[in-house]
Parts: sequence; C-alpha cells; structure tokens
Amino acid sequence: MTHILHRSIQAAMPVAVGGKGIELFDRDGKAYIDACGGAAVSCLGHGHPDVLAALHRQLDTLAYAHTGFFTSAAAEALADRLVEEAPTGLDHVYLVSGGSEAVEAALKLARQYFVEKGEPQRRHVIARRQSFHGNTLAALATGGNEWRRAPFKPLLIETHHIDPCYAYRLQAAGESDEAYAARAAGALEAKIQELGAYQVIAFVAETVVGATAGAVPPVADYLKRIRAICDRHGILFMLDEVMCGMGRTGTLHACEQDGVSPDLMTIAKGLGGGYQPIGAVLLSAEIFRAIAEGSGFFQHGHTYMGHPMAAAAALAVQDIIRRDGLLANVVAMGERLQRRLEERFANHHHVGDIRGRGLFRGVEFVADRTSKQVFDPGLKLNARVKREAMARGLMVYPMGGTIDGVQGDHVLLAPPFIVSEGQVDTIVERLGEAVDAAVASVR
Ligand code: PMP
Repeated sequence: MTHILHRSIQAAMPVAVGGKGIELFDRDGKAYIDACGGAAVSCLGHGHPDVLAALHRQLDTLAYAHTGFFTSAAAEALADRLVEEAPTGLDHVYLVSGGSEAVEAALKLARQYFVEKGEPQRRHVIARRQSFHGNTLAALATGGNEWRRAPFKPLLIETHHIDPCYAYRLQAAGESDEAYAARAAGALEAKIQELGAYQVIAFVAETVVGATAGAVPPVADYLKRIRAICDRHGILFMLDEVMCGMGRTGTLHACEQDGVSPDLMTIAKGLGGGYQPIGAVLLSAEIFRAIAEGSGFFQHGHTYMGHPMAAAAALAVQDIIRRDGLLANVVAMGERLQRRLEERFANHHHVGDIRGRGLFRGVEFVADRTSKQVFDPGLKLNARVKREAMARGLMVYPMGGTIDGVQGDHVLLAPPFIVSEGQVDTIVERLGEAVDAAVASVR
C-alpha cells in the first residue's frame, strides 16, 4: 500500500522509474508516450543530457541560499533572460516554485500596487468562468472551475466571473468573430461598471485556456479589446500563462499572437520543463516603481523562491529551446497534430471540437455532435479516455469542464517540443483507439 496521498486516492498508479525523450517508463518496463508533458510541463521531454549537466554544475557550485540574505548568479541570469524576452513593458521578475505560487504573488502585487498608490478601497478581482489559476486559496478563488471550487467555497475570497471567450460553445450561430470578440469583451466592461472601477484591482485570464477547457484560444481581437477596457478603467490586466506560455503555443509567450502585453504575467510549467519546480511573475515597471518608491518592500515571500537549482534548470531549458530552434518545431508539429486529429476524427459522432495553438491542442467530446450535448458527467468519459490511452502506452491529460452549469469532457495534448512527425502520427493513432474504446464502454 502506498503511503503517499495522491490526487486520486483510490487509483492504483504505475510507478515511474525512468524517462528518455518523449517517453516515460514504469517499473514493469512499459513505455508511455508523454503526449501531454504531464500537465504541459515537460517541454524538452525527459532525461535531456544538457539540462542534467547544467543541474550537476549548479549543485557542485551552490544548491541553496535564502533570498533574505543573498541573490544568486543563476537567479540573476534567469531574470535577465526572462526580461530580455518578455512582452513589452514587463521588466521585473519574481521567482517562485510553481504556478499557484506565481498567481498568489501576482494577485498580491496587484493589490499592494494600489495600496501604495493610496487606493486601498480596491478589492475586487474579475476573472472568467472557464478557467483555472491554481489550487491555493486565492488562486482557486480566482479560477472559475465550479467543480474544483465547490468544497472550499466558504473559504474563498469573493471574486467575480464573466463568461470566457469560448467560440465552440458561446459564439452564436452566424455571429462573426469580430462581433463575438466585442460581445465577450463587453462582459468585462459591464462587470467593471457594476462593481465600480474605483474598487476593482485587476482582470485575470489565461491567454489560451488550459486545464478547464482544453486549449481554447481567444478569437481575434478579444484580448486587444480586453486590454483597452482595462486601460480605459484604470485596472490592471493580468495574463496567466502558467500552462500556455514559454513556447507551448509556438511563440515564447502566447499573448504575442494576440498583439497584447499585460501588466502582470505568470509563467511556470514549461519554464523549467519539470526538471525543477519553478514559476515566475513578470511585472511592469510601473508596479515595480510604485512599490519601490512606496513602502520599498513587497509584503510576500517563500523559503524556496529564487532557488538556484530551479533557476539553473530553467535557464538551461530556455537556452536549449533557443539553441535548437525548437519553437519552429512547435509550430510545424502543432499544425501536423491538428491536421492528423481532424483527419482521424472527421465525422466522428463524439468529437465536437479540435482546437488550440502550437503543441497545445484540445479535443472536446460530445454525446451528440449536432446538438453539442455533453455526455452524462457520471460516465466520466474523459477519465475513461485517459485509462484507455494509458493501457495503450499514451499519456493524455483528461478534463471535465463546466460551462453554463454543464460538465463537458476534453483531453489536452501537449507533447514535448522535440516531438517528431512519426511520433505525432503515433500519438493520434493511439488516441483514436483509446477514444473509440472509451466511447464503446459507455454505450
Ligand atoms: N495557472 C494555470 C493556467 C494552470 O494551468 C495551473 C496548473 N494547471 C496553475 C495556474 C497552477 O500551477 P501549479 O499546479 O504549478 O501550482
């Protein structure tokens, strides 16, 4: 019996004992293609020799120094690198140990910014229904995933949720992308007016929605409109790129493709590629200045922030992505993955939508393709697809998202950036078999 409390207490899990390239191996010698990078984490795959070498070098030099006393060469170099490549205007970095920590820190930076400016009445955060921002309490409160929030509701700070930009479910028949972008962004304006802009801290969104909806990108111009609304009302615009950032969508930051820069941005997962736990907040000069010239102290902190081992891992991962030109492979293999999925599931009665950007793709399942009716949530179709995929040596990330109170089923694909054409084809082949088997099991 295991003594570890895993996410799924009942499930018997295979024991991972090794990994190489895009595969993980269990104790029985079975290989699994990691077609989701865990949870969009393993951007370089497993056992990359150059990352391991960088980690060994760092360990031989300095494993840990508390940030209350020291900075470190590794953390400084990583911060310089992140700012060099950051969206316009983001020129400071706060290094933490993961995505939820990054979101918590970003929310507190946003709140403290307004306190420093003499606007302590600002207390509202607006986010979106179909979203996930982490499992710590403020991050959970910000996310709009009802299923995850439900047991903890009495403990959550009050947040406000508007509809996401989710074309497959929420764009009206015959509505142009332009009209839909205006309508979806208009929901933010209405919410700000309802709450009173002078009381609002920030609007928070995932650039491409990940763990709740399965790689849902916004329609063209939606985020530009959001940026303009935030500016018009003087509230901060925060993008959560913990999952979709750091090259996953084919550009280093997903928001580059939308032509916007936020005031705060969170990154994690692909930053360190799973070689060490790491996350970061990128923040604007204005937020930094307000705090620096105000109290001079960000009232926050964690024991392992700026950890030299984590910083060295992230720097190595980012160097390799640049050195090997891997973003071009993300774009090319992402297009191939989308095309192959569309071919495999063309006219499939239970595949409603295939979408995403780069190597960040979602497949949404429906009981009926025409009506978009979801499967009975009790059937847990997404978990069945995961199980059938694992049986066939394939890892895909399962999700049940809620929209308008309806629980749907999706899987997320986020293979390592080093994936080859043949491997993309194998992923689609195994996924096709897994989906057919899962659907057959609920008939
Ligand atoms: N934000 C987003 C968009 C995420 O996808 C996640 C993790 N799935 C988080 C925050 C939380 O990150 P972590 O699990 O590292 O705390």
